[in-house]
Amino acid sequence: MNRRYRSLFFALGFVVLATHLAYLQAGPVMWTLLVLQLLAYPQLAYWRAARAEDSLRAEMQNLLIDGVLLGAWIAVWGMPLWISFVLFVGVCVNVVIFMGMPGLWKGMAAVGAGVAAVALVQGLSFRPHTELHTSLLCIALLTSYLLFFANDAYRRGVSLRESRRQLGEQLAEITKLQAQLQEQAQRDPLTGLHNRRFLDEALERELAACTAAGLPLTLVLIDIDHFKRINDTYGHPAGDEMIRQLAGLLRERVRDDGLIACRYGGEEFLLMLPGTTVAEAEALAEDIRATFESLRVVADGQAMRTTLSIGVAGFPEHGARAQRLVLRADHALYAAKLRGRNRVVVSSDELASGRALPAAAH
Ligand code: GH3
Ligand code: MG
Ligand code: MG
Repeated sequence: MNRRYRSLFFALGFVVLATHLAYLQAGPVMWTLLVLQLLAYPQLAYWRAARAEDSLRAEMQNLLIDGVLLGAWIAVWGMPLWISFVLFVGVCVNVVIFMGMPGLWKGMAAVGAGVAAVALVQGLSFRPHTELHTSLLCIALLTSYLLFFANDAYRRGVSLRESRRQLGEQLAEITKLQAQLQEQAQRDPLTGLHNRRFLDEALERELAACTAAGLPLTLVLIDIDHFKRINDTYGHPAGDEMIRQLAGLLRERVRDDGLIACRYGGEEFLLMLPGTTVAEAEALAEDIRATFESLRVVADGQAMRTTLSIGVAGFPEHGARAQRLVLRADHALYAAKLRGRNRVVVSSDELASGRALPAAAH
């Protein structure tokens, strides 16, 4: 980047300084040195930085070398006021852009070193005068130099704002995707119902809330009867359709806030009903069972029907811990299967201890 800047401003500087050299009636050696300094040196500086392992560091050194060389020129010409001012400010602006304010001292020291070197060799002279047109060109050069950097800073500001805006948009998009991903991780893809992972977390939460509020919470565990037969007879896609239909029915029945229907396993569903008593849940389960029993699920032109077995367990009657309640609902469901399927069984202490289950169940 700095190659362009250095080349451009050294070339413009050449035009300005040439007028001063003409005024000084400089000889061919001075002209040759000035051409080398202002037209060839920028390419050399670029070449050095480009080859360096750490280009930025090398370029910062180049800026200080600029300072030493321009300081030397200033001293050679006897400190012409306008020229000294423009070159000094130019060097300082450059080092500050690359190094910040700490660079200013280095830049000033570099110019001072150039002046001192010449002073050691030929002593210091003082000829501050420049011709009017040289002074005007100095003003024009410095003005364009500063405007150039101001415009550059403006463009960088604009692009920074644009980058920030894009970054903000990307961040919002990522946050949205994360939320979607989290939501998807909690959903069952076949039915769109919440999955077991979600329910396990939600159950702990809801149970704590119901305990604190003195409210009941009931679990209803639902299993499709002889579902393997459905799959075997009508095919797996038809079985999927039946699962979807049951999910739709459950979604309808637990539309109220806080009531959750989830797909607990393959053809098993669990309803979590905070604020619902066992008796209310039993009635709901019976309604679901009866509705499903009369449902004809059509898939691929074939009508299928089967039934549901349902186990019900509630807090506080059947337990106070989430795992315990699920287990009690599972025992009740098991009992419903053993008693001939297509029924709702509410958990009881006998069921929990296994006493009410036929021997085959153990
Ligand atoms: P029971 O009345 O005792 O519950 O018998 P069942 O046949 O319903 O129970 P079983 O556990 O023997 O079989 C459940 C079947 O559900 C086995 C499995 O292939 C099927 N299944 C599980 N998940 C899916 C699914 O997503 N789609 C389909 N089509 N079938 C599934
Ligand atoms: Mg099952
Ligand atoms: Mg089943």
